[in-house]
Amino acid sequence: MADRSDELALFGGEPVITLPRPHEVWPPPADPAELAALAAQRDDDISIKGRCGPIARFETEFLEFLEGRVRHAVTFNSGTSALFAAYFALGVTEGVEVVGPALTYHAALSPVYALRGSVVLADVDVQTRGISPAAVRAAITENTRVITVVHQWGHPCDMDAILRIAEENGLRVLEDCSHAHGSRYKGRPVGTFGDAAVFSLQANKAVFAGEGGILVTDDRAVHDRATLLGHYRDRSREEIDDESLRRYWVSGFGLKLRMSPFNAVVASHALAAFPERKEARHRCLRYLTDRLADVDYIEPVHVCDEVDMGAWYGYKPLYRPKALEGISRGTLIAALRAEGMEVGAPSGPRLATLPLYCAEANPLFPEARYLPNRVRPGTNAEFVEAHALSLPTFYRWPQDKELIDHYVEAFHKIHRHRVALAEYDTRSR
Ligand SMILES: *Cc1c(COP(=O)(O)O)cnc(C)c1O
Repeated sequence: MADRSDELALFGGEPVITLPRPHEVWPPPADPAELAALAAQRDDDISIKGRCGPIARFETEFLEFLEGRVRHAVTFNSGTSALFAAYFALGVTEGVEVVGPALTYHAALSPVYALRGSVVLADVDVQTRGISPAAVRAAITENTRVITVVHQWGHPCDMDAILRIAEENGLRVLEDCSHAHGSRYKGRPVGTFGDAAVFSLQANKAVFAGEGGILVTDDRAVHDRATLLGHYRDRSREEIDDESLRRYWVSGFGLKLRMSPFNAVVASHALAAFPERKEARHRCLRYLTDRLADVDYIEPVHVCDEVDMGAWYGYKPLYRPKALEGISRGTLIAALRAEGMEVGAPSGPRLATLPLYCAEANPLFPEARYLPNRVRPGTNAEFVEAHALSLPTFYRWPQDKELIDHYVEAFHKIHRHRVALAEYDTRSR
């Protein structure tokens, strides 16, 4: 008689993971001090016009978080707004090309279109998941002005190579650090390498305001132009050095993209709690990585020697179907979910599949001089997109250890039943 007690949950057996859901609780709830600060802000000031109050406090704390390696920080109402201001400040306009990664969150590059620029997608590296320096080199033309790197899922890009290419070609570098608060490359915090950097502070991010973003730069001219674009009146009058820009302080350049003080209060508390949360997250994810070493069909997240994963935003190992009878990723995910796992395919598609990125003309400004994307098949980006799994970024240590053990046990259970699951997979194709 077959032992029914070990049957796959997908086929009616008992699930392995029975601990209460959700397994990933983020953002964590506020503590009483944060709630009190929010309540106090309500009657103190609910609309901050300059660089003062909780806005100034958070910006100063953020520069300290970056170890004082850059001098200027400007908050915005979202990471997307901060990126828009950064592209504007770096001179993106009609006829300018920005080279960026083929697989990332769209907002890293989408604001380029609103400035009438063109985006040129470059392939990613399978290990770092960030933009590949060789692909950047191949994408550069006489119109290129900016290289955008995204430290994808917390893993820093190969910054030595990127900075060398930028220097050789006279290009500016923008770092999108929205996944990588606290990540380091060769000991130095990301966000301090490029001409400008943006950290989203959206609720899912490791340091969160709810909605918000922060632009940091050591370049006074970048600071002044970004400020003028999104912070008219007090802040432009008080903070902009360049007289030829400051004279626009009343109207700015027409947009209001600033952060609310409530979001800054939340962000300060999240930043203060970050070091401890980061440490616990690393313990959880290092433990998960070690335990996944015996699961042949999963390639754990690779961390290069010279980097610190910082925020470690998302845990995305790669599925190796050849080690599991060629079972499709969809069937694997269904079987793991039936075992009680919170797992899926990463949510962001390759940018070349989005209508904004594959149009023949700029969809916002069809008459603008424009370079349509050169989309090449068979890329690393396609490979990562097709094989990555998204697991919870566990962060409660040691409480999550038991949950991680159950996850690993579910992976082993699938392996024991691979033949039956492969038959099911073939039937359901
Ligand atoms: C979240 C994110 C953004 C956008 O930030 P918002 O604050 O949501 O506007 C940009 N780039 C990357 C890589 C992100 O993950």
